[in-house]
Amino acid sequence: MRKTVSFTRHSANIFFHLLTRCNLRCRHCYINPDQHGRNTLDIDTIDRWLTLFAHRHPSSNVIFLGGEPTLHPDLSVAVKRSRQLGYASVTIDTNGYLFHDILNRVTPKQVDYFSFSLDGPDPSVNDPLRGDGSFKQCTQGVVAAKKHGFSASLIYTVSQANIDHLQRMPPLLVELGVDRFFIQVIGVRGQWTGDAKRVESLARVDRDTWLKVIPPVAEAAARLGITVTFPKVFLGPDEPFECAGLVADNYFIFPNGRVYRCPLCEDYALHSLDIRHDRLVETPKVNESDLFPLLIPEGCVMNRIIQPRNLPPAVDGKRHYKIACCLLKEEITASSRPE
Ligand code: SF4
Ligand code: SF4
Repeated sequence: MRKTVSFTRHSANIFFHLLTRCNLRCRHCYINPDQHGRNTLDIDTIDRWLTLFAHRHPSSNVIFLGGEPTLHPDLSVAVKRSRQLGYASVTIDTNGYLFHDILNRVTPKQVDYFSFSLDGPDPSVNDPLRGDGSFKQCTQGVVAAKKHGFSASLIYTVSQANIDHLQRMPPLLVELGVDRFFIQVIGVRGQWTGDAKRVESLARVDRDTWLKVIPPVAEAAARLGITVTFPKVFLGPDEPFECAGLVADNYFIFPNGRVYRCPLCEDYALHSLDIRHDRLVETPKVNESDLFPLLIPEGCVMNRIIQPRNLPPAVDGKRHYKIACCLLKEEITASSRPE
């Protein structure tokens, strides 16, 4: 199977946001132009930054994102350059609108996966979250990508608004010819975090609901031959906790030059690296890297600082679960799923 983004220990992923502009206004969009910039990187800068990270980690996966990355007129050039630089895999994350005739400007040899974002099994669930007409456009985009010979993955961001419909996804994935399914937990990030009503309606699901719904749906999709990746989110008291900031190499690059190692920090100037004059420089203390080694009973330290709503309640002074790292996930296939 082709490689794509990997959420395991020792993996190296370069999440490269080429621009923050997008044609959609998803209710849970994590992009925050005040923190990430409003500029579109020119192809020469993209080339130099790709080179910078290719030298840092010779076998990283590169994932092009935005905003909507297919709005960038030179995305196909960036893809070809990534191949020349020896990236282990190239993925394009897209909302499915596939601008600039991208399917005809790159080949399946150059792009390992087109990764589509869809948050419901039909328009009545997806479109209120992602925009009118986005279900139709996204599913047509998947079909078109498959017809062109590309592998396709699909990302479903789970919140209270759509968890009840997740179980209807596996048959749709088969119908569309999706190869990989990424179930993702919603994060409270981006411009919409100041909107209390929105935060409430898109809140994370509780532990019991997560455990009741997510693993069975993942197994159902795996039985249909689809590789499924999903976060554990909640760890039992005896399950080991690890922070990807310490055991993996993930870099989230934004057009203003900020480079984060942890996505939860992205609304704050906590980034550990900056690209200045095409050099990668460490930012002054205190930054995210100073926080990763802090061991706390609740698990992920950044949840403690930034998203305390997610923390496990203490019952009789004890916490019955911990919050797992959102960058270390489970992967199941038909052959690995539990009997
Ligand atoms: S498609 Fe992505 S970048 Fe665009 S609004 Fe939706 S979440 Fe944000
Ligand atoms: S989400 Fe938490 S555990 Fe994962 S990298 Fe960030 S700080 Fe570390």
